[in-house]
Amino acid sequence: MNIPENIKLLQKEIPGSVKLVAISKTKPVSDIMEAYFSGFTTFGENKVQELIKKQEDLPEDIEWHMVGHLQTNKVKYIAPFVNMIQSVDSLKLLKIIDKEAGKHNRIINCLLQLHIALEETKFGLSLNEVQEILESPDFKLLKNARIVGLMGMATFTSEEEVIRMEFKFLADYFKKLKKDYFPTDKKFKEISMGMSGDYKIAIEEGSTMIRVGSSIFGARTCSLSPTKTSQS
Ligand SMILES: *Cc1c(COP(=O)(O)O)cnc(C)c1O
Repeated sequence: MNIPENIKLLQKEIPGSVKLVAISKTKPVSDIMEAYFSGFTTFGENKVQELIKKQEDLPEDIEWHMVGHLQTNKVKYIAPFVNMIQSVDSLKLLKIIDKEAGKHNRIINCLLQLHIALEETKFGLSLNEVQEILESPDFKLLKNARIVGLMGMATFTSEEEVIRMEFKFLADYFKKLKKDYFPTDKKFKEISMGMSGDYKIAIEEGSTMIRVGSSIFGARTCSLSPTKTSQS
């Protein structure tokens, strides 16, 4: 795997308006440094412990995105440095992000993660839950957690039409929320959708941010056991 080359090819292929987040989960810091030395600085992780460790070991000017489920009691560990939390799935979590970011005088950009796939996964908000959050009085009091858009993951399937329909749904829903809740807020602009297998479809359907892991760093041998994979 030539990591810098993979990033360059991807960036050449996608429109300049689409931001690339390199998902480095389970990969060693040396892989991230290869990308970093080529001038690329935006990375995403899905586990708090791994994110903290890598942030400590790597240069300060890296922009870190949290893309996995986040427990409220772990927000404090990433609040000092994380740039974006893409996986906000409750009002409770949003309020704690706000509080912890406030302690460091920081703004943390957040995406509401929507459940758009057919699969029964544990995480992601339903449409009703999103609306409940945006209409709650607590939402209006947030100062340091800033909602800048939506994130979603399509069904893991080879049926392109299913994936396209889910991405289209997310993009349409984004437009509706923009109109109803953020009409004058220029910062509410991100639709994070698309991974290695489906980013092309996602971009065609309006993605502004893609999260690509294996197409950059190579396949992950076992996503459940990062310590084992780094020995290989
Ligand atoms: C792992 C992961 C990705 C990247 O997946 P690839 O298929 O390796 O590109 C994107 N988003 C989230 C939330 C992930 O957990």
